[in-house]
Amino acid sequence: MTVELISVGTEILLGNIVNTNAAWLSGQCAALGLACYYQSVVGDNAQRLREALKTALERSDAVILSGGLGPTTDDLTKETAAEAMGMPLVEDPRSLERIEEYFRVRGLEMTDNNKKQALVPAGAVVLDNDNGTAPGLILEKDGKRAILLPGPPNELIPMFEERVRPYLQRLEPGILYSRTVKICGIGESRAAAMVQDLIDTQTNPTIAPYAKTGEVHLRVTARAEREKEAKNLVKTVVKELEKRFGQDVYTTKEEVTLEQAVVELLLKRKMTVCTIESCTGGMLASRLINVPGVSETFRAGYITYSNRAKQKVAGVKKKTLEKYGAVSPQTAEEMARGAAKAAHADATVSVTGIAGPDGGSREKPVGLVYIGCHVGDRTVVQEYRFVGNRGKIRESAVSAALTLLRRCILTAEPAQ
Ligand code: ATP
Ligand code: MG
Repeated sequence: MTVELISVGTEILLGNIVNTNAAWLSGQCAALGLACYYQSVVGDNAQRLREALKTALERSDAVILSGGLGPTTDDLTKETAAEAMGMPLVEDPRSLERIEEYFRVRGLEMTDNNKKQALVPAGAVVLDNDNGTAPGLILEKDGKRAILLPGPPNELIPMFEERVRPYLQRLEPGILYSRTVKICGIGESRAAAMVQDLIDTQTNPTIAPYAKTGEVHLRVTARAEREKEAKNLVKTVVKELEKRFGQDVYTTKEEVTLEQAVVELLLKRKMTVCTIESCTGGMLASRLINVPGVSETFRAGYITYSNRAKQKVAGVKKKTLEKYGAVSPQTAEEMARGAAKAAHADATVSVTGIAGPDGGSREKPVGLVYIGCHVGDRTVVQEYRFVGNRGKIRESAVSAALTLLRRCILTAEPAQ
């Protein structure tokens, strides 16, 4: 079943309000497993709303409209939808009663245009509004549905949760179950290419790739009548993805982050860790320290921004800095080795690079980063060329550092 959204309101078109309803409703539809291929915004204009609704009803099974249900003359969603569905407006006694009650309780005077709100398309399902006056409506005809919701989010959200979601669930029965396979150290396009055959051929479960900084998440979603069935469908695909990506899968648990996976690995191997950072200025240490329980493994985090600090803290040789520069594989290696010694850590990661916007050159452009990883008596140094602004480059460097650390621990001999 396909759903489409129309947000009604000139305020949205002018940029006076942000269309949070559309964002929220799309999230809800996705969670229900309903395909939503179009969203549009129309001003408070009957002619254009009519056209938008006509187009939407032609190509989608259900259209969810938000806004323009109020009592004023610029509120014309109900009239337009009733006309488009060929359903005449009739007075709904129960709605009239509710509206009268709303005004009575608040000691407000009810005007005639409030009465307009008690008119409903004949045969429509009326959705009570506990937080405002305008009731929502569901119009059904010839297998097509228009679902009309009030614009204010504090009215729309409860109405959707209480009435619309169960209604949509009944239309598309079954349950949805998802799991995310989180991959590090592989770019989005390569990861997508590695599963393209699965994405192309599978409809249940579906696989959706999401690119994150330094990570790719593959979300596997299945629909089935019962949860067990859906879980089994997902499990088979998750297994296949684990087979294809091997060690690059750092978790298949929704809540686990890359830094958490790294800390768990360190704890499992009973290894201590230390960081030494230049261009990331403590971001790597901070991400690790964000993980509860890290104190068992985290020894020290050094920020050695200047050459002097690199020499003093990690014993990087003056000659190395002069000959190769602070951003070089040699410096990254000496930083890692030196810090490991200073902190007595089993695993050490070093980061040195050019985050920009200045300081780049032809042979050492902005985005060039060296990451060193010292585990046991082995030191690995990798070169990276990140793109983006200063913040993005630093974030990419942190993800790459966590990924390299993880890889080095996995390939190291486990402690006896
Ligand atoms: P009312 O009875 O309050 O007039 P309505 O259904 O007619 O409700 P609108 O007049 O279109 O809705 O919008 C009323 C208010 O609801 C807007 O001023 C805005 O604050 C909020 N609103 C409307 N549409 C959206 C939207 N798409 N996203 C976020 N907020 C919205
Ligand atoms: Mg209004």
